[in-house]
Amino acid sequence: MQSLNKQKQMTKSGKRAIPKPIEYLKKTYRKKGKKLTTFLRGLMIRKVRGLDSLSKELHKQAFERIDCLKCANCCTKMSPTYSKTDIKRISKHLGMTYDEYFDKYCYKDESGDIMNKKTPCQFLLKNNKCGIYEVRPSDCKNFPHTQYNDFKLYITSTHKQNIEYCPITLDIVERMHEIVIEKGKKSLSAKDARED
Ligand code: SF4
Ligand code: SF4
Repeated sequence: MQSLNKQKQMTKSGKRAIPKPIEYLKKTYRKKGKKLTTFLRGLMIRKVRGLDSLSKELHKQAFERIDCLKCANCCTKMSPTYSKTDIKRISKHLGMTYDEYFDKYCYKDESGDIMNKKTPCQFLLKNNKCGIYEVRPSDCKNFPHTQYNDFKLYITSTHKQNIEYCPITLDIVERMHEIVIEKGKKSLSAKDARED
């Protein structure tokens, strides 16, 4: 019998947990980043039946495997894209005007998107929690955007970039690659995500 600390930590779905997400991200992206980027590009033109149900299942499993509180890489290395509604809500919560908030924390990038001036984010706490969790930008709430119905639609704008920054996105794409390319599946079901 193995000692407890030698046993692999398993999730409810039976998949191995990833206890050190940043280590996993760096190592895996270095090893497979190019291959997975090419795979994502190919997926844009490839017909794969059942891709969206598979991506939703992989998304669910990735959140079981990876604890965001052990990562916080999005809050550390990336900026949320704010909507005006986000700024209205957050500034009100902080007792500031829209303009005060904008001037203190934001700038408009070359495409007109409203971004944080600072990284890491000014609201990231030492324990990796968000200091404005209840009113955080909807971009943060929905990050990494792998839960949507049309996985392909977000490849260029989102997933292709995020495999370098987000362990959850990387895990989803790595496992999707295994199923579609290594196992050669052309027609997918959520069941494929549960097989090893
Ligand atoms: S607002 Fe909160 S969730 Fe969003 S980047 Fe900042 S710390 Fe992270
Ligand atoms: S969403 Fe991705 S980058 Fe952000 S904390 Fe979770 S695993 Fe890390």
